[in-house]
Amino acid sequence: MIDIAGNIERVLSRIECAARKAGTDASEIKIVAITKTHPAEVLIEAYRAGLKCFGENKVQEAEAKFARLKNIAPDIDIERHFVGHLQTNKINKALKLFDLIQSVDSFKLGSGISKRAKLEGREVDILLQVNTSAEDSKFGVAPDKAVDLITELAQLPHLRIRGLMTIGAFLPEAEMTRPCFAKLRHLSEQIKKLNLPKVKMEILSMGMTNDFEVAIEEGANMVRIGTAIFGPRE
Ligand SMILES: *Cc1c(COP(=O)(O)O)cnc(C)c1O
Repeated sequence: MIDIAGNIERVLSRIECAARKAGTDASEIKIVAITKTHPAEVLIEAYRAGLKCFGENKVQEAEAKFARLKNIAPDIDIERHFVGHLQTNKINKALKLFDLIQSVDSFKLGSGISKRAKLEGREVDILLQVNTSAEDSKFGVAPDKAVDLITELAQLPHLRIRGLMTIGAFLPEAEMTRPCFAKLRHLSEQIKKLNLPKVKMEILSMGMTNDFEVAIEEGANMVRIGTAIFGPRE
């Protein structure tokens, strides 16, 4: 059995330490608990232990999980983030399921979301995913294309761009990932100065189980944590 409540406590105290080191307030750092591959029951346990925000990376899996959640725990009210690669043919479903899409990395995807949001008469919160590690296998816009893309996305009337997201390079030591996070923070500061309409650089989503402390030291105010809370995935 995995001690989810205990794991959450340990993650919280690690966040406290990192925040202290960074001179920031730990209470301003939001945990997105990543429940991919884990069942709804596990999510409920984390919710009862105090977490309110959850992330999934596959639309289909999330759809089934959230339906089951509604069935077995209709009282719980969570914030839901999408953190995976979103295919344009899944936009409609994703907008029904999620409060924030963290992984917008192309104009095509952004305009698809905006179009759908228009039909539904609402605005959708998104983050721009940036590929700070320059690893081919990863999604995200290249850092040197990010300003152009965000300037284009800012024209879309039904998007609210709330910040940036990145996945750090997978390196043997967390410390080696620091330049990725520093790059995202610089980019966010650069974009802030442009004062683009509908663009607010209020969220810096960076840091996972292996590197969230370094990310916090570099200014993350949203960390996406799976393994440290729920144990290893199959
Ligand atoms: C799986 C995943 C995470 C969480 O990873 P852990 O290493 O298990 O903490 C965070 N962000 C994204 C985008 C993911 O796909």
